[in-house]
Amino acid sequence: MIRDAATQAARLDAARSLVEDILIPAEARMDAEDRMPEHARAALRAHGLFGISIPEAQGGLGLTMEEEAGLMLVLGRTAPAYRAVYALNSGGAAQILLRAGTDVQKDRWLPGLACGDLVACFCLSEAEAGSDAASLQTTALRAGDGWRIAGRKRWVTNAPEAGMLMVMARSGGPGARGISAFAIDPATPGIEVLPAQAKMGMRGAQVADIVFHDVVVPGGALVGAEGEGLKLALAGLDKVRLHLAALSAGLMERLIDEGRRHALARRQFGKPLAEQPAIGALLADSVAEALAARCMALELARARDDGTLRPADAAAAKLFATEALGRVADRVLQVHGGEGYMVGSAVERLYRDVRLLRILDGTSEIQRMVVARGLMG
Ligand SMILES: Cc1cc2nc3c(=O)[nH]c(=O)nc-3n(C[C@H](O)[C@H](O)[C@H](O)COP(=O)(O)OP(=O)(O)OC[C@H]3O[C@@H](n4cnc5c(N)ncnc54)[C@H](O)[C@@H]3O)c2cc1C
Repeated sequence: MIRDAATQAARLDAARSLVEDILIPAEARMDAEDRMPEHARAALRAHGLFGISIPEAQGGLGLTMEEEAGLMLVLGRTAPAYRAVYALNSGGAAQILLRAGTDVQKDRWLPGLACGDLVACFCLSEAEAGSDAASLQTTALRAGDGWRIAGRKRWVTNAPEAGMLMVMARSGGPGARGISAFAIDPATPGIEVLPAQAKMGMRGAQVADIVFHDVVVPGGALVGAEGEGLKLALAGLDKVRLHLAALSAGLMERLIDEGRRHALARRQFGKPLAEQPAIGALLADSVAEALAARCMALELARARDDGTLRPADAAAAKLFATEALGRVADRVLQVHGGEGYMVGSAVERLYRDVRLLRILDGTSEIQRMVVARGLMG
């Protein structure tokens, strides 16, 4: 649902300028330094992007899913590491607070997340609990009026700059129903953020393990009912999947632009590559897939806004868009020939970055499982 067409159009225009004038020019530096340049962060904050879907009452933009998908189509045209820093604030952590948090919890965390003063971390995965998140072993035991948390969370995005942690820990028996959600201040004694780990791409969005050494948190850290944590986390997945589908469509469009530019500029056999049917075919297949992903993301975003979205469809959209993105990145690198393989080219950087999207927030295999279950009832 677009609430006001003129406002949305102005928002998209502003986002286009942000991407072209600030974010794309800072991509190479962010990749080289594995750190988001401060001026880019300031611009993301000024555009309100840390609070995309946090309600306006708490200082966010309060976008509907269709508005958010439209925005991500534009913001997808730059390095996805930017999005990993700002969008996690409106993602898992905020969605759980919005769904189940008390007014005290919302007031404590949401305004800081919405403006970007705080950066959120979502702490679910562990060494032995990846796709099978329900097998996590971090414990939360009652300690007086509060809880004592012990365990180690793996590959937490934004951990080195965490301002709030949404932690899934086992407070009851085995399986999904024994897991509770806790909103925790990372300055609490006993929390150790290990050094950031080197990764293949998405440089600028740092990832590190977090160890909880018998961390005592107050009773008010529990969000929602005991044992509801994983259910709350999964309830927000439709939104994340549509967000990533739109982001992927935007990334495909950027890659196609890179491919088109190169095909027009590079001459071999006495003419531009663009005149070679084989090169045109690589880009035409990419255009078709980008268009399909764009339409899918927008259509399903509208369905989510009007309450008719089927969860399996959101999984199908994430599956299609991220897999198609991988194919597009590969084709566009091929269009660039050796230049696309050389470190420092935009297409080389994006090729590394986009690989993560088939793993994050449910791998492609897990999305297929969700789609198949939806189909079989
Ligand atoms: C850069 C990065 C950032 C991350 N950030 C976060 C974060 O902020 N917070 C967080 O909690 N986690 C984070 N993660 C973890 C991420 O969520 C997991 O990597 C993801 O859930 C997959 O788990 P896994 O890597 O353990 O793979 P595994 O679960 O070990 O899977 C390995 C392979 O087996 C397949 N597979 C597994 N089970 C099945 C099955 N039943 N049927 C068919 N195939 C199957 C998978 O699809 C995959 O191909 C991050 C990971 C990375 C790499």
